[in-house]
Amino acid sequence: MEIQFDLTTEDPEIELMQSFPGTYDWDCEEGPFFEEVLEEVLVSRVQAKLQEMTPLLQGVSIQSLSVGADLYGMQGVLAQCISEKNEDGSYSVGVIYGPDVIQELLSAHWDSSYSINPYYDMTIVHELLHLADQSELSLKNIGHNIPDPVIQFFGWMRMWRSEGLADLPAFKRGLRGLQDPLTVKQRISEAFKTLSEVDWKSCSGMGDYEAVYEPLSFIPYEVGPYLLHQVILATSVPASSEADNHLSGMIPMLQSGLGIGFEAFWHHIMKDGQGLVDAGLLQDILTRLFEASGLQAYQSSPEDEAMAGPILEIYKKLAGSIYSEK
Ligand SMILES: [Zn+2]
Repeated sequence: MEIQFDLTTEDPEIELMQSFPGTYDWDCEEGPFFEEVLEEVLVSRVQAKLQEMTPLLQGVSIQSLSVGADLYGMQGVLAQCISEKNEDGSYSVGVIYGPDVIQELLSAHWDSSYSINPYYDMTIVHELLHLADQSELSLKNIGHNIPDPVIQFFGWMRMWRSEGLADLPAFKRGLRGLQDPLTVKQRISEAFKTLSEVDWKSCSGMGDYEAVYEPLSFIPYEVGPYLLHQVILATSVPASSEADNHLSGMIPMLQSGLGIGFEAFWHHIMKDGQGLVDAGLLQDILTRLFEASGLQAYQSSPEDEAMAGPILEIYKKLAGSIYSEK
């Protein structure tokens, strides 16, 4: 497959480019040119990771792949993966690297003794796992921009599993996510406590919801990997040993994770989650969310029903497993 490369920063200033490691020909006489080196480094990186992750991406047909370099980058974002489903079911995928990862990869390119910050090296793995996560991709766009308390909560809860999965390789290497069950439990109960104090009826626009979830946006990354790892250990026999921290050794575990969808994940957490999630508190939050939700009204027109219907369906199942385990 041909990989397209794009420098997404338009006409970058020379000072900006010079802030990256390496020796380049800035006078455009003879190479190496900054952009060419960048293309070679980033594209070969993506190719290598795609190769390693082939068994996980088997159900995904990638029609086109583009790799981008964003020299400015967005605050706190290491890399982004955008995938668009085509009419024939295949995906057009774009991976964009931000400046921190580019720094690392260029440093390693110019100095063979340089060892890349291992978490940065996991960035592309994280993004490709999102792409492999087909059960999540089907939920991803359901009404996420509707300012409704149930839908916004649902979106946040979904991330516990999906970011947990994407960060699982980094978690196994001790690079990301909380590892200690007591801290996990504490973090969850703090987050739920915050949510239980929100006056949902006074939230209306998306801005109100963003203000609620912004301080809680790291929770899925902190607790998600630990929780999903627990579910995998309990529901399947991972073929990799605990000591095997190479990606290739983690493939069976990741395959198990991909097979545990949103509902199964939450069902297991509520049933055998060792009390990590306070079911009583969660039930109170859900009750209050439903009281403030306008989702029933969304079902009045056929187009809206198509959007709200699947959410209500899954949400009721989720609520069902929470209520039954209390
Ligand atoms: Zn992610």
